[in-house]
Amino acid sequence: MAVWIVIGASRGIGLEWVRQLLARGDQVYATVRDPAKASQLWILAGSAPRANCQLLLCDVSSEASIISFAQEIAAIRNLDRIDHVVINAGILDYPNRATELSFEDFSKHLRTNAVGPIITAQKLLQTRIPIRSITFMSSDSGSATDFRAFEDGFAAYAASKAALNQMLRHMAAELQRIKVYTTILAMHPGEVTTDMANISVGWEVDGIISAEQSVAGMLRVVESKTVQDTGTFWTWQGARHPW
Ligand code: NDP
Repeated sequence: MAVWIVIGASRGIGLEWVRQLLARGDQVYATVRDPAKASQLWILAGSAPRANCQLLLCDVSSEASIISFAQEIAAIRNLDRIDHVVINAGILDYPNRATELSFEDFSKHLRTNAVGPIITAQKLLQTRIPIRSITFMSSDSGSATDFRAFEDGFAAYAASKAALNQMLRHMAAELQRIKVYTTILAMHPGEVTTDMANISVGWEVDGIISAEQSVAGMLRVVESKTVQDTGTFWTWQGARHPW
């Protein structure tokens, strides 16, 4: 039985991670920022064996919340290893054009999609509980070489994922230097039918997939990687994604 932490599990791709992991009998620590808005996760957790799913609070846009979450993890009795962490939380306030967006809107994307995920990983690493892998939910739009100018209205979102990508590569390199053998990965989940894709954007994208397909693919990718792969970027189908 593997031990997982899924950050941002109330709905969409994060909720599907929890669903598939519990179906395999794995142990999951799943986080939400507002328990009152996580009814589907409560139902999932309620139908799993009590020991297998624990819900915790974590708002990645708040340093205090991240610290208190990491303290809760550190205080869990007998938690002597974490196999995989999936940092899934993210926002997309559409549209967010470079020529129009406010200081506040840009900052909000960076804070939630880049700063929060990196600090969450950092605080978990600082608990000193051995962690096999940390996967960050990135996006193809954060790729610097695969720059898609036609994606009008995604500038701050894309920039925040690019910042996340660059920071996680530094995290991977720094960990290697100090001989901490946690595999750090970036993942593009595909174009997935969730609130983010459907409501915020409101258009049909070619090749759109279900959260179920996306997570089944990502699960295979995460489990196939070793520390030799640290600091790499993957698609849900297991292909290398360009930075
Ligand atoms: P959703 O909007 O459906 O879900 C986003 C999740 O992130 C929710 O659980 C939400 O919680 C949580 N979240 C948002 N802000 C915070 C915060 N401050 N602290 C903690 N949790 C937070 O999005 P998806 O499921 O589609 O996306 C999941 C990840 O995949 C994101 O990082 C996204 O950028 C990435 N991605 C998605 C793609 C897609 O096509 N769907 C494509 C490429 C990347 P709450 O319910 O409280 O709001």
